[in-house]
Amino acid sequence: MWFRQDLRLADNPALLAAAAEGPVLPVFILDDGAAGRWAYGGAQRWWLHHSLAALAQGLAGLGAPLVLLRGDAARLIPELAERVGAGAVHAARLYEPWARRRDEAIHRALSAQGRALVLHPGVLLHEPHRLRTREGRAYGVYTPFARALFALGEPPPPLPAPTALRPLSDAPPGMALEALGLLDPRGWWRGFHDRWEPGEAGAARRLDRFGAGGIAAYASRRNLPGLPGTSGLSPHLRWGEISPRQLWHAARALGAAGEHPFLKEILWREFSYHLLWHRPELPEAPLQPAFARFPWVRDPALLRAWQRGRTGYPIVDAGMRELWQTGWMHNRVRMIAASFLVKHLLQPWQDGAAWFWDTLVDGDLASNSASWQWVAGCGADAAPYVRIFNPILQGEKFDPEGAYVRRFLPELADLPLRFLHRPWEAPSPPRGYPAPIIGHAEGRARALAAYASLKTAA
Ligand SMILES: Cc1cc2nc3c(=O)[nH]c(=O)nc-3n(C[C@H](O)[C@H](O)[C@H](O)COP(=O)(O)OP(=O)(O)OC[C@H]3O[C@@H](n4cnc5c(N)ncnc54)[C@H](O)[C@@H]3O)c2cc1C
Repeated sequence: MWFRQDLRLADNPALLAAAAEGPVLPVFILDDGAAGRWAYGGAQRWWLHHSLAALAQGLAGLGAPLVLLRGDAARLIPELAERVGAGAVHAARLYEPWARRRDEAIHRALSAQGRALVLHPGVLLHEPHRLRTREGRAYGVYTPFARALFALGEPPPPLPAPTALRPLSDAPPGMALEALGLLDPRGWWRGFHDRWEPGEAGAARRLDRFGAGGIAAYASRRNLPGLPGTSGLSPHLRWGEISPRQLWHAARALGAAGEHPFLKEILWREFSYHLLWHRPELPEAPLQPAFARFPWVRDPALLRAWQRGRTGYPIVDAGMRELWQTGWMHNRVRMIAASFLVKHLLQPWQDGAAWFWDTLVDGDLASNSASWQWVAGCGADAAPYVRIFNPILQGEKFDPEGAYVRRFLPELADLPLRFLHRPWEAPSPPRGYPAPIIGHAEGRARALAAYASLKTAA
């Protein structure tokens, strides 16, 4: 049983299939080489370290300890299968282009040995290669995609966790978790512990806390970053500590009826994977080819000011500090901060996506790439480029009491509310907080001019 992005015991079809065949050798391999530039970012590695610890404990309790390895899985998996005389290798299907290439290579190597790599569902509700429009094409627009998924009816109910596993009598030794070196010694992640509990039990506890109250208030609170209005389950989903169908059925049981907005968000995740599967260039290249000529003005100093939360726009800066301190950022603020980078500052969306990749605990190649393309206006189903968020009005609308900004920008804590989202207008602007890096009107005009040049060039 090869664990990858499904670090859970319950509702894990691959694990159950392996267990049904006889003794099980559970394996996890850290394979940075295959992932290349999409090797896990720093915050993901922190999460992964703790999630593997939880999974190892769970598997030990079932009788089959987890073997940890590091290196080229395309070589290690066939070697291991040969060494232990495995009947088959079971895993949950992955959708990242690099992982698909690697699985094909492993499949060939195992076939040559007379074995199979058996890929199971487990990461998504629906397999992207099975979903087609009436014309037989992949979906490029979210609304018809979501409508089609709702029309498919309820996903099958989740499967139970195995009650015991038969271990291999001569299981090979693995590495100690610490030896994988997942924790950045600089320790910038220390604050993450206050917010997160990686692992299957942590996911269940977070879902419990969200509960029926979270579902009932979701529509009215999900855009307000100052409140706990969303589930915070994204890192648990990203690492597969809860499956999307466990979450779907739990949400139904908690009162999410019909096309409840919470279920629609789960379908945004599905849609992102659908795009990644059918458009594997998603993480690197704009889906609208015209945007390849966009006149970005790369400026490391601007990128750095944004990364550090020092743009002078409180809602943007609070978001960037939340990201740095907790490994997560509220969705509304992700949209505002990303828009500010690509529109006001004219920095390539790929640079913003790379920073998110390194700092988000839920960093997910499908959702991150699709969302950045959506915000930048170059995605399949993107917001029109000319819709440019005003960071002042967005702050005033979605953080009306200033609770979010005050939490993450202590230097603004004493500023009266009417200046909180426009501190430069205060009679005595707060010390230690920068003036806006660019005026809103100027940034907007520049962005529109850049976009217009794209159309003229076409
Ligand atoms: C620029 C940008 C980058 C993003 N990068 C990521 C990323 O790397 N990983 C990631 O999981 N999400 C990403 N998102 C989507 C979204 O911001 C997060 O999924 C959400 O904030 C997670 O919080 P939650 O679990 O409380 O969400 P909830 O509101 O509780 O939603 C439940 C689940 O639905 C899924 N979901 C919700 N909104 C979206 C969305 N817009 N797109 C895809 N799935 C969604 C998530 O899995 C989430 O856990 C990004 C959004 C933007 C604008």
